[in-house]
Amino acid sequence: MDIHNIRRIAIKIGSNVLSNDDGSINRHHIYEIVREIAKIRESGIEVILISSGAVACGRDTIREHVVKKLDSVQQRQLYSAVGQITLMNLYSQFFGDYGLQVGQVLTTKENFKTRTLYLNQKNCISTMLENGIIPIVNENDTVSITELMFTDNDELSGLVATMMDVQILLILSNVDGIFKGDPKEKGSTVIREVEPGTDLTGYISSGKSGFGRGGMVTKYNIASKVAKEGITVVIANGKKDASIITGVVFTPDQYTFTRFIPQQHNLSGVKKWIAHSNGFAKGSIYINANTVKAISGERATSILPVGVTKVEGEFEKDDLIMVLSEDGENLGMGKSAYNSAKAAQIAGKHGCRPIIHYDYLFLY
Ligand code: GLU
Repeated sequence: MDIHNIRRIAIKIGSNVLSNDDGSINRHHIYEIVREIAKIRESGIEVILISSGAVACGRDTIREHVVKKLDSVQQRQLYSAVGQITLMNLYSQFFGDYGLQVGQVLTTKENFKTRTLYLNQKNCISTMLENGIIPIVNENDTVSITELMFTDNDELSGLVATMMDVQILLILSNVDGIFKGDPKEKGSTVIREVEPGTDLTGYISSGKSGFGRGGMVTKYNIASKVAKEGITVVIANGKKDASIITGVVFTPDQYTFTRFIPQQHNLSGVKKWIAHSNGFAKGSIYINANTVKAISGERATSILPVGVTKVEGEFEKDDLIMVLSEDGENLGMGKSAYNSAKAAQIAGKHGCRPIIHYDYLFLY
């Protein structure tokens, strides 16, 4: 990617990158990471950080003082409440050494649910960037409800990257990228480039290591999805050597990592939001084979009630719904122009307005 086209970059930093193998926080390494990010900012590129590490920092700070055995939710809440402050203090102090200010954005999955909430967050991060502040985003683990959480911060970073229209999403973890073969075996090599539409699922081991929640499977899924939306995604090792951060941007040929080539895809803001909202569907419509063919073609096509064979779930007008083929294949998502009762009533009928207008339809 031509460096001149890079205006904004999102960098996701995993807990493993910030901590030592025993779980303690590696302040020296965080300082080096900050130094590299400061160089990127100096070149005029805007940076948004999505940083894990609150739980790891909290555990590191107060583990010795915890009075009774905690379950996993209590641990997450307590450690993140304490650790988020430690983490932000470190960033604030270290970036301060380079004359840079940071700001904290704590969010939950619910904040991506409606278009209004989504745009509210987008405005917040945009205002920070306009004022030269580096936004540091993390999930608000203190109040996040387990069932409604992001899978991990990889998922959150994908949402932020598309929401903020970055040119590169750099996901830093403790592995060099996606390997052809088991990363632990000698001779297995990093896949350098992933062309759009390539399926690498067979290469990815489902194991996860260390202290974060994520693993390579989510990283891969998020990376493919975000690249499909027109953003270059890089999965790189940020634990070994912090200079890879500037390397990815300025001298990519000198470093080893996996890069997902973006598909040229000018998705509108609304479609990007829909693309990342699959957890929020309130219902589904099943469409007949002719409609599947029509919407899969080159021309922009809305879904008309005449092509709908079944309506499931209870939803209101403007809710997000899933689009399925008659045999249940998940084709995409869209915003419904009708509530579920009305949709069921007009399903199969001619002469009605589209149930999902093309502008509000995202196909996988
Ligand atoms: N939000 C969590 C933290 O800051 C990390 C989630 C993850 O590992 O992806 O500790």
